[in-house]
Amino acid sequence: NKQKPVLLITGGAGFIGSNFIRYMHETYPDYHLLNLDKLTYAGNTSNLIGLEASPTYTLIEGDIADEHLVHSLFDEHDIHGVIHFAAESHVDRSIEDSKQFVETNVLGTLVLLQAAKQDWEKKGVLQERRFHQISTDEVYGSLGETGEFSEDTPYDPRNPYSASKAGANLMVRSFGHTYNMNVVISSSSNNYGPRQHTEKLIPTIVSKALKNEQIPIYGDGKNVRDWLYVDDHCRALDLIFHQAPPFSTYNIGGGNEIRNIDIAKEICSILDDIKPELLKETKLASFQDLITHTNDRLGHDRRYAVDDSKLRKELGWEPKEALSTGLRKTVQWYVNQWESVASP
Ligand code: NAD
Repeated sequence: NKQKPVLLITGGAGFIGSNFIRYMHETYPDYHLLNLDKLTYAGNTSNLIGLEASPTYTLIEGDIADEHLVHSLFDEHDIHGVIHFAAESHVDRSIEDSKQFVETNVLGTLVLLQAAKQDWEKKGVLQERRFHQISTDEVYGSLGETGEFSEDTPYDPRNPYSASKAGANLMVRSFGHTYNMNVVISSSSNNYGPRQHTEKLIPTIVSKALKNEQIPIYGDGKNVRDWLYVDDHCRALDLIFHQAPPFSTYNIGGGNEIRNIDIAKEICSILDDIKPELLKETKLASFQDLITHTNDRLGHDRRYAVDDSKLRKELGWEPKEALSTGLRKTVQWYVNQWESVASP
């Protein structure tokens, strides 16, 4: 296995990173996947159950901002590419306290860039090996009722989380410009699917409904998000990492714009369908009756939507999962998780 090209994947114990590692492990048995993850509250090794014994997968528990550790990883392994997911990712937490967001998202990204640059320059492969930065449509700011973000939309982050991601992206771009490093950035819309942390919207709705607790929705619930099934995101990342020209940026969308209140209602009606006995117990007509509006999130962006025609045209990608089927699979997955924890 020492001979296999090594990919450094950061944040692989989180939601998208773990889905990506599973996807890559299945699709490319010829890579060795090195997962550098600090295992913060958001990282969960059970997201990677089944891979622990694989000869082509290794978990390194550590901080991307730890210079000594990151440089030693490049010394010990011949790293052929970096796919960088690790981040503090929850907007609400960044509003409470943003320091860790700068430390991980900006400083951590810089440490990875410096280590990759130093190692690849020494080996004479700086232009060949790729640094792929995983970004979000939130860096572009907020939209009115119409329009979409393109890859050229200037950054206009509105909360500390998106500001730290924009800062990281700019650092990545600067390494492309200054050192001619082979960097790419992809910015996707909201992901959904299995293995997301319970603090995020969809798992929260499911768990609250199953506990017969109020389902909190910020403000009037009319904020619009575009939803991308995580497997579709993973396929897009595979294409971008392997085929995109150096120094390019791609938006990745799901083509599923929906208001938060409507996705909450949709999830509740899926739950009505798959848990009728529970609904009967609660004496509710529908789990929708649990929805309650709370004070709006500070600086809550109204609408995000991305134009991903560049990715579709240049790399031939399109999402495969419709929101209705993807949401049903996802809700069922969280219900199964919940039931396996509730009745061990
Ligand atoms: P997540 O919070 O589920 O996972 C983040 C992972 O990073 C966790 O495993 C955590 O332990 C790890 N981590 C955090 N700080 C670290 C550090 N200092 N060193 C090493 N590891 C650290 O996040 P996610 O939702 O899977 O998002 C992954 C990436 O995708 C992030 O960069 C995020 O900005 C981006 N993104 C997410 C979405 C989305 O909808 N979830 C959309 C667009 C972009």
